[in-house]
Amino acid sequence: MQVNIVDIPSDGLRLCFDTTDSWASKAASAALGGALSDLNVELVLRRVGPGVYVEGRVSASVQRCCDRCLAALRYCIEGPVQLYYEPGSEDLSGDVNLLSDELEVGFFDGAQLDLSAVLSEFLALEASPRLFCGDYGVSRLVPGECSLPVSKGDSPESMGTGASDDQVGDPRFAVLKHLDLD
Ligand SMILES: [Zn+2]
Repeated sequence: MQVNIVDIPSDGLRLCFDTTDSWASKAASAALGGALSDLNVELVLRRVGPGVYVEGRVSASVQRCCDRCLAALRYCIEGPVQLYYEPGSEDLSGDVNLLSDELEVGFFDGAQLDLSAVLSEFLALEASPRLFCGDYGVSRLVPGECSLPVSKGDSPESMGTGASDDQVGDPRFAVLKHLDLD
């Protein structure tokens, strides 16, 4: 979803999107790494100098899996958008701290602003990359405890006595088998 900068009126351009806007759904689902169940985007675009100031509000919810126990989760994220886009590219910018430190600065080609990139950037900044049961904004969709799944054939009795050859398990934990814990 591209917005021509020349089309932004002097008092700003107000835009709203939801799950029926496929570009927005796609961008949000990719940024949040799950199947999107809800999305509301309200943005106001204002031209500020050669750049564009984007403010508004985004709320989204996706279905994900817990990164510990793999249970199905719903993750809801909501927050204010405050992003400034200036013409140029990241690697050419020596000095981007012209505005307040809290304001995230992005880059665009000076003619069109890609709102998919705006949405992706906001969600990437706001969302937790790893989700666990009980985290803020996370609700577990199935009953049960949040614990690491136990793989078959790796019961405590077989630990340290030489596990069967066909159940190697995670090689990163192999060292634990040789630990003496008393
Ligand atoms: Zn969990």
